[in-house]
Amino acid sequence: MAAVAAAVDREADRLTELDAAIGDADHGSNLKRGFAAVATALDAEPPSTPGAVLTAAGRQLISTVGGASGPLYGTLLRRTGKTLGDAAEVDAAGFGAALRAGVAAVAQLGGAAPGDKTMLDALVPGSEAVDASFAAALAAADAGARATVPLRARKGRASYLGERSVGHEDPGARSSVLLFAALVEVAA
Ligand code: ADP
Ligand code: MG
Repeated sequence: MAAVAAAVDREADRLTELDAAIGDADHGSNLKRGFAAVATALDAEPPSTPGAVLTAAGRQLISTVGGASGPLYGTLLRRTGKTLGDAAEVDAAGFGAALRAGVAAVAQLGGAAPGDKTMLDALVPGSEAVDASFAAALAAADAGARATVPLRARKGRASYLGERSVGHEDPGARSSVLLFAALVEVAA
């Protein structure tokens, strides 16, 4: 979560630029504020298990971020954390399964599917590749985010633009890539 907060902080301007093209130019600032609050909360009261870290992080995001991405990423982290349960250690297979449960919860909450030009276009391929390696997940998520460029948005604020949403990368798909990049960074 600290690595995600740092990555979001570094990339906030880029995320906001993407959101300026097809949204309301707040995705970078939303996530920067949200993950900074997550990092602060986890530092103040470090949870004792991986699942509890993710559950606390998700709760913090939901209460800090007003935009669509707050509840969506909050749900991702919370459901992933709850699926991990109170295990003291998590193996690769358990993590992959929990992450896919988290991604499924995002799809359910937002009513979106891959191809709708949302964060799911990176989260779904990334979480499906994560059992192979974090690097494979990062590559798959990045490819998924890039593939949102020619899509027409069917969910979220960008969908109001209709045809004019074509030709821009989805900001939430790009920010999702940062989650996988943080996994690669920390594992290394
Ligand atoms: P807002 O749209 O409220 O300004 P943000 O700018 O922080 O919130 O986040 C926008 C991102 O949220 C989009 O780029 C998209 O990836 C994601 N998003 C929006 N609606 C949905 C949805 N229904 N399902 C999945 N992701 C969504
Ligand atoms: Mg926005």
